[in-house]
Amino acid sequence: MKKILNIGIDIDNVLTKTTEKTNSLIDNYITTPKEKELYQKNLSQIMASKFPDELNSKLQQCFQEVCNTVELFPNARKVIFALHGQGHKIIFITARNDNLVPNTIENTKRYFQKHNIYFDKILFNNTNKNEACRQNNIDLLIDDSPSVLENIETNKLLFLNELNNKFQEQYNTVKNWIEISEYIEEITAN
Ligand SMILES: [Mg+2]
Repeated sequence: MKKILNIGIDIDNVLTKTTEKTNSLIDNYITTPKEKELYQKNLSQIMASKFPDELNSKLQQCFQEVCNTVELFPNARKVIFALHGQGHKIIFITARNDNLVPNTIENTKRYFQKHNIYFDKILFNNTNKNEACRQNNIDLLIDDSPSVLENIETNKLLFLNELNNKFQEQYNTVKNWIEISEYIEEITAN
């Protein structure tokens, strides 16, 4: 019999092409040179804590649009549904919350429904994903953030992109959802 896993999956830049979408929409919201400069200056920490006051309402609107219109990675829906069919539990673990951008949790749930993404649970507001993994008996976490994975004690996979590929020596990596499917097939086969 095949091993059944509790699979933890990040949302932004694993399920959805969030950075790509943000980059394509940001110029519609942040328009003046002064705003652009402020945005660039704060970019590295912009998702982590809070937006600069001057940009707050514009960035909230932008991120709301990103959340509602972002594209899925190819094959994500299909692979997730197939993993569910094999008996695995699908648990999304995300830092998304309502503090930075109002209604994010509601909008995220609606997005999952609209795009017909199977899940057993969605866990929001997780700044410490290792704790979430422990509490939910996660066997494998798939995430694109090296700093998140660094603290994870369970089995983990880095979902590669242009920003994190310098970490590929340190982790088991995948480039797309077909590779996720193959990796899980491999570790659950007898
Ligand atoms: Mg992510």
